[in-house]
Amino acid sequence: MFQADTGSLKLLLDAGTTTFAGDRFPMPPKGKIDAAILSHAHMDHSGFVPQLFHKGRIPWYCTPPTLRTSNLLWRDAIKVAILRRESPYITEPLIREANKHAVQIPYAEEYEFFDGTSFELFDAGHIPGSAQVIVNSGKQKLLYTGDFNSAKTRLHNGCVPGTRSADAMIIESTYAMRNHPPRKDIETELAVCVKEAITTGNALIPCFAIGRTLEVLMALRAKGITRVFVDGMGVAASQIVADYPEYVSDPDAMASALASCKFVENNSARKAIGAGKGNVIIATAGMLDGGPALSYIKAMNAAGRGMVLMPGYQGAGTNGRSLVETGIISDHGIKFKINLPVKVFDFSAHAGRKELFDFVRKAEPKKVFCVHGDEATCITFASELTEQGFDATAPKLGDSVVI
Ligand SMILES: [Zn+2]
Repeated sequence: MFQADTGSLKLLLDAGTTTFAGDRFPMPPKGKIDAAILSHAHMDHSGFVPQLFHKGRIPWYCTPPTLRTSNLLWRDAIKVAILRRESPYITEPLIREANKHAVQIPYAEEYEFFDGTSFELFDAGHIPGSAQVIVNSGKQKLLYTGDFNSAKTRLHNGCVPGTRSADAMIIESTYAMRNHPPRKDIETELAVCVKEAITTGNALIPCFAIGRTLEVLMALRAKGITRVFVDGMGVAASQIVADYPEYVSDPDAMASALASCKFVENNSARKAIGAGKGNVIIATAGMLDGGPALSYIKAMNAAGRGMVLMPGYQGAGTNGRSLVETGIISDHGIKFKINLPVKVFDFSAHAGRKELFDFVRKAEPKKVFCVHGDEATCITFASELTEQGFDATAPKLGDSVVI
């Protein structure tokens, strides 16, 4: 969460939560906030929005797909909390209140506040509806990249460059120290593994719901792999995205991929598919922390056949990371040793090192603030940019900077 203060207007840029116990909420904003702008729906950017409506009533702005997918993730957070017997920090009344004050803004449409400050959203190429935010106070311009990807993928054309020579740029740093392999090589490798897995068992692809499910589905279809089962939150997320074809690069390819897959509708179908063979299954959760992916992996493990193909980064402390490193997952405190081959594929939705540096070079901002990455990564990214002649820093939590 970032706070931008023009002197007459106080804006929040994103309002997210983390999943780390005890450190879930961002630092409270300083002073009274006038409005919030959301870059995209992922919980680390949107999860705190309902909390803004405990006491205050402020307008908040995002693209139409971001509003719907945020609602999907918020309601899932309630469900997960109830399953874990925790008290949910997001509630239906808070969601209803937040929705009353939401303003949907399409890409490249200028919105002006009461003091003349304006903002525009530009395609960030990260997930459907994701946006970079340009705030223009009339005297100064601030570019907040949010999470972005400038490389072309099945679902996105890559982010729109936005603005040049902004007075300040707040840029994500997630992959500042690592390049991604070419996407076409990764897709080929995944297709080879899927085809191999289904000769004797199932191919389970645990996927994030928003964007990644469709991305992988479209990649498989392009490689001639159809009749894919899709299960979990990825079903609803993909159906929402299908309502906004203008937010993806190839709506026809997306529609064909959706038409050729089968949504899993109930538990008995899930059980039969999991225990069977020759099935390609895309299921949430992407890091195996719950959702039908967990049921499938246990069923496949019990049957002793199939492969687990993970198309994304597995965060520390998740079942996905534990599976990759130790072969063990846990479900409600019970540990399972998984005796299936596991492979990880880099289907990242974030710009890699090369793209991040290219992006800064092309945008030529006067000041750069490197955020949203490991602390060491942000610091190194900033110092490498400084060596290249940019005025770059990696601010710490709670820092204030005058531009
Ligand atoms: Zn994100």
